[in-house]
Amino acid sequence: MSEEKKDTFQTQVVNEEILKNLSLKKRYAWIRANLMTVLTDEELNFFDEVGRFCLKQEKEVNHWKDDVYTWIPKFGEKGYINRNRNYSETGIDWGDKAGYRFESMRSIAVDMFDTQFNMAMGATVLAINPIHAHHENRPVCIEALTDLISGKNVGAILITEPERGSDSLHPLTKTEPQADGSFIVNGVKAFNTNAPKSKWLVLYGAPDPSSPETPNQMTQLLVQVPQDSIKIERVYIPWVPKMHLGKETFTNCRVPKDQVLGGIGKGRDYQFEGLVPERLGIAMTNISECWGALAYASLYANMRLQFGKPILTLQGAGFVLCEWWAKTANYYQGILRFCAQYDVKMKKYGGEIPAALNQAFVATAAQLKYEGASLADRVCYEMANLMAGAGVSDNTLMMDLLGVSRIQEIVGGTRQIMLYILSMAQRQLYKMV
Ligand SMILES: Cc1cc2nc3c(=O)[nH]c(=O)nc-3n(C[C@H](O)[C@H](O)[C@H](O)COP(=O)(O)OP(=O)(O)OC[C@H]3O[C@@H](n4cnc5c(N)ncnc54)[C@H](O)[C@@H]3O)c2cc1C
Repeated sequence: MSEEKKDTFQTQVVNEEILKNLSLKKRYAWIRANLMTVLTDEELNFFDEVGRFCLKQEKEVNHWKDDVYTWIPKFGEKGYINRNRNYSETGIDWGDKAGYRFESMRSIAVDMFDTQFNMAMGATVLAINPIHAHHENRPVCIEALTDLISGKNVGAILITEPERGSDSLHPLTKTEPQADGSFIVNGVKAFNTNAPKSKWLVLYGAPDPSSPETPNQMTQLLVQVPQDSIKIERVYIPWVPKMHLGKETFTNCRVPKDQVLGGIGKGRDYQFEGLVPERLGIAMTNISECWGALAYASLYANMRLQFGKPILTLQGAGFVLCEWWAKTANYYQGILRFCAQYDVKMKKYGGEIPAALNQAFVATAAQLKYEGASLADRVCYEMANLMAGAGVSDNTLMMDLLGVSRIQEIVGGTRQIMLYILSMAQRQLYKMV
């Protein structure tokens, strides 16, 4: 084994020549050949730009050993944490190279570099969105937004609790208003991506969790950590070992008035308004995971010989690859169309999409998330399975794709919750005709 590999996988099994040809550079070339027909020149150029940066980073990082959170500042400096929009209030503005179309390019390029790293950055964006929407130019909120979008610090969204998962509109975390406009927080949150590594948390609670009015009284608060009144423990998820999730216990934690993003009664609407970008973001990572797994499997199937032939030409194997390739390519067209339309509507309505239209987008984003999570699960599993021993060993980053794809149907609302949302949308549709 060559010197530089000692610190990566445990024992090399995949042959040197094949391993070399599964490099990030080769995988980018493969994906680029796929994207060429469906992307505009400016989209493809942006994909290349992010790709070139990732290739440089590839020489410096160790995907097997590094703490991926240490990579975030460099990506932040380049503006590769998130491209959903410009954040002009922070002085960060990428001009025309911002919007959901560009975010989808960023996501594929970074996801192929390191999928769990990309997912962790996506969780920071869940904190960025509400701060951007409700900062009202308060200095502490602008500081948090600047920190997060520039990668200086990491953020987390705290919706889930040990006893409140899917039922997120009945939090048990108590957020009690004080005479000076601040809030006192008591309660426990759990499964919050990035929390142990974060400086900024966005938290939901309610003043009286025993009240039947809880959904109508919810609050949304910006919390800075570390502080003595908040204990943060890591929740370890073996399928995504590079990501740090948290369990946070709040004991009489005071949140100052200027960090109240949404006072009593605003929390529910603010949680709902974040659903479209959150689910679209997950759908983008899902399609990125599919492309990432297909790139590995396609290159491998062309090189790996069994019975004297590339396994691609053994129909049972080659057809499996092509079936999931076709499904991925078709689903990708749907994502691109959604991103383009969402960008157009955001521009038309000055960044604030009217409620009725947003409601329709909620359903479409749920459809994309539902289908994308399921597709990522199947594609990553089938491609690892196709590569067999090489696909499930630690010799390539297929190991990360396999792991991350196992949790996609849980994060951001489970499979059943997506269908629940869609069945409510069906009811609305019926009333409209
Ligand atoms: C890797 C990872 C990262 C995460 N990141 C975050 C994060 O950053 N921030 C955050 O706040 N949370 C996060 N979560 C939590 C995630 O959002 C929840 O796990 C999810 O919402 C489900 O909640 P639960 O695990 O409590 O399951 P439960 O809600 O207890 O669900 C258990 C089962 O019951 C089903 N079910 C529940 N209600 C219904 C219903 N009405 N109809 C039909 N079936 C139903 C569910 O689909 C599921 O199969 C993360 C979770 C994971 C695993």
